[in-house]
Amino acid sequence: CGIVGYTGAAPAEPILIEGLSRMEYRGYDSAGVAVQQGEAIEVVCRKGKVSELAHTLEHFDLTGTCGIGHTRWATHGKPSEANAHPHTSCAGDIAVVHNGIIENFAELREELVGRGHAFKSETDTEVVAHLVEEAYQRLREAGAGDLRAAVAEAASQLVGAYGLAVMAEDEPGTIIVCRKDSPIVVGRGETGSYVASDIIALIDATRDVVVLADDQMARLTADGIAYFDMDGNPLEPEVTHVDWDI
Ligand code: GLU
Repeated sequence: CGIVGYTGAAPAEPILIEGLSRMEYRGYDSAGVAVQQGEAIEVVCRKGKVSELAHTLEHFDLTGTCGIGHTRWATHGKPSEANAHPHTSCAGDIAVVHNGIIENFAELREELVGRGHAFKSETDTEVVAHLVEEAYQRLREAGAGDLRAAVAEAASQLVGAYGLAVMAEDEPGTIIVCRKDSPIVVGRGETGSYVASDIIALIDATRDVVVLADDQMARLTADGIAYFDMDGNPLEPEVTHVDWDI
């Protein structure tokens, strides 16, 4: 239902919580964040309100400066901590948040289970983490690609609607986003790069945003944002200036 992400010079957690709180008006049943902590991605999810997630996070010392967050409106799988996003790959080294519905998730899941993937949730979303994991491993073994390419390859297998934000332990400080029939907005703030599914979560950081079109992707790092089509060709999308107040 709501996606946020940040990579930059500042700690990610407060930025993610603020962004998620801004999107509370949309309704949701659970919330979670994934933050790069040293070499590992740490995931914390809670059923219920963003304030409960924030309270739980007080017991963690998440100081990392790259992270993604989500508020979930369950479509596949009951509202629960296990079904809350971010979802992770088998090895836990890839984290995914997703808005929308993956219509062919049952087939994809069956195929992935047949190839040895173990699932931890009942969501349609979790297939994306496993598909990215497979593509990432294969592309890297062949010396032929990075997380952006792996996300593009995973997305090419999806039928349905998706806004996606993805992180990988092996590419610390990077967030890959893409979309189809579900909004994704990115922008540069003073301390780093931001993504959200709703401009309202970005507006304090920047008023110059790029509204991704279907089948466009972006790679966010602390230093900037690069745009691509799904084949990896660079794009220069139009910047929209937001001049309304909230
Ligand atoms: N279909 C996904 C799920 O049920 C994402 C729902 C959403 O957009 O929040 O977990």
